[in-house]
Amino acid sequence: MTIASNLATIKNTLPQNVTLVAVSKTKPVADLWEAYQAGQRVFGENKIQEMLEKWEQLPKDIQWHMIGHVQSNKVKFMAPFVNLIHGVDGLNLLEEINKQAKKHNRIIDCLLQLHIASEETKFGLDGTEFNALILDENFKKMQNIRVVGLMGMATFTGDTTIIENEFKNLKNIFDSQKNNVSHNFELKILSMGMSGDYHIAIENGSNMVRIGSSIFGGR
Ligand SMILES: *Cc1c(COP(=O)(O)O)cnc(C)c1O
Repeated sequence: MTIASNLATIKNTLPQNVTLVAVSKTKPVADLWEAYQAGQRVFGENKIQEMLEKWEQLPKDIQWHMIGHVQSNKVKFMAPFVNLIHGVDGLNLLEEINKQAKKHNRIIDCLLQLHIASEETKFGLDGTEFNALILDENFKKMQNIRVVGLMGMATFTGDTTIIENEFKNLKNIFDSQKNNVSHNFELKILSMGMSGDYHIAIENGSNMVRIGSSIFGGR
């Protein structure tokens, strides 16, 4: 199977309202080119340095999504061009993104990552931390970031009931904040679903899937 045919197969199964983020982490620029030539314009990377190098080499109409855990001291390297940061899990990180966005006269769109899996290792805010963050006065003052949605990762398990429940949980939180709209907060994007579980995610309300290995092959 080629990258182009994998992409076509996946796109055929996605509803119109679902955005496909092609997760190209660890893959060579040639692979991204192939996807680009097949029409793909949204790519996801999980390391800032790697994303920067690929951004420099590829056409400028690509939208770059940072899907990995972000270290504050590296935000400055992606601030000029990143389109969406999925893994925002704290006020300090948001403050740094806001500061760097301001330097570049930009407003950077972010998703808050919620911890929905039972595994300890997954990053993200729990419900209490999420509520505290969105009520925080410092958050409300930020002018150069916009929280446009939520992101979550389900437990890595073959038990689809567990995965389903975790996605339902995130969708409920998303819906509960739908009418809570301000200058820098409006939930429109629900980023959930990867190669192994994106069908379940879409059934449970996802409108952005992050798919790597089913497009580019194993890593
Ligand atoms: C790697 C990664 C993906 C894609 O995973 P696949 O199983 O290869 O589709 C999606 N989301 C995040 C946060 C990732 O790190």
